[in-house]
Amino acid sequence: MPRESLPARIAAQREQRIGEHRIRIRRTVLRRDGARCEVAGADGVPRWLLNFCGNDYLGLSQQFAVAGALQDVVSREGAGGMASHLVCGHHAEHEALEREVADWLGVPSALLFGSGYMANLAVVQALLGRADVCVQDKLNHASLIDGARLAGCALRRYPHADPEGALRQLRMTPDGAALLATDGVFSMDGDVAPLKQLALVARVQHATLYVDDAHGIGVLGEEGRGSIADAGLDAAAVPLRLVTLGKALGSYGAVVAGDADLVRHLAETARPYIYTTALPPAQAAASLAAVKLARREHWRREKLAALVQRFRAGARRHGLDLLPSDTPIQPLLCGNDAVAVAMAAALERMGFWVAAIRPPTVPEGSARLRVTLSAAHADGDVDKLVDALARARDYAQAGASSGAVVV
Ligand SMILES: *Cc1c(COP(=O)(O)O)cnc(C)c1O
Repeated sequence: MPRESLPARIAAQREQRIGEHRIRIRRTVLRRDGARCEVAGADGVPRWLLNFCGNDYLGLSQQFAVAGALQDVVSREGAGGMASHLVCGHHAEHEALEREVADWLGVPSALLFGSGYMANLAVVQALLGRADVCVQDKLNHASLIDGARLAGCALRRYPHADPEGALRQLRMTPDGAALLATDGVFSMDGDVAPLKQLALVARVQHATLYVDDAHGIGVLGEEGRGSIADAGLDAAAVPLRLVTLGKALGSYGAVVAGDADLVRHLAETARPYIYTTALPPAQAAASLAAVKLARREHWRREKLAALVQRFRAGARRHGLDLLPSDTPIQPLLCGNDAVAVAMAAALERMGFWVAAIRPPTVPEGSARLRVTLSAAHADGDVDKLVDALARARDYAQAGASSGAVVV
């Protein structure tokens, strides 16, 4: 028997994805202007769309002071990162950002990573080994799952937002060290983890609680300190957390913040920290400017919260099937992959960009439109989106009942 052919296998897999409406294509953004962006069409004709699928929740990515900080440092220090942090890449701009984030969150220590994905790999890989267990929410971000794979530890997943399930999993694995890891705000659902109860579970089971606050930071809590502060928990209850800089903060990169000994251990041993080039100092400067604005400009959070309520009220009036969420992530459940794709296409024809999220990013049978709101949106933008969603739904239903969903 000859060996299986890789090219033949991937071609067959792609055919299958096409048949299942699961093909993923990149769209090219030509220009951004606040919540609007110009996108290259399939026919090559560019079009301006109102963007409802980004994660720039506070509208900081094009803010003058954020872009200006980047420009200042680029002109002085150049574009690159030079080397890894432990060689000669560690710069005062990185250091200043780490200090600011630690001060913001009221924790002893913070460590800057190239991205949230790498930071999650680093945390789980550096803390756990083969004899240990990582207990995780079923809907955690893929990077936390991959971190456990890299660590080689046992991985146990409990039903979504179920502290009892977490407790059961930890009881079943009493030997070895344990990390209890959860998203603070779930990225595809928008709901908030039951952090208080999880902190209790971690305490009684002598597990370390790690909260990935990629979508909570900047948005929730006083001064935007995130889901942990919003739950009234302190640094003792949550020894380690992830803050991503590429979402509400409008920049790029991520910070792991918390207990000084744990953070130092990451800096000295985590492979995704050591074996990669440091972020450009200018990018850290942009992040620092963004953190300062996120702390100070409460109106961004207030406006965002008002837009969320406006969107939900409008959706309710139209009978749209939203998941329960008070965060800027407002998914509309479609169930069927083809319906989600057809609705996204209809929305685009009406001038709106909303992403159809399908398995394996979400569980089978739960394809959805993931609507995200931003302080860069206006009330009228949200009103227009609600009307367009209702029309797209009616269109997709008509297509489905005639048996021909046109994409
Ligand atoms: C986006 C995201 C990450 C990864 O962060 P990046 O900085 O984009 O790599 C990690 N966790 C969650 C929950 C996320 O949504």
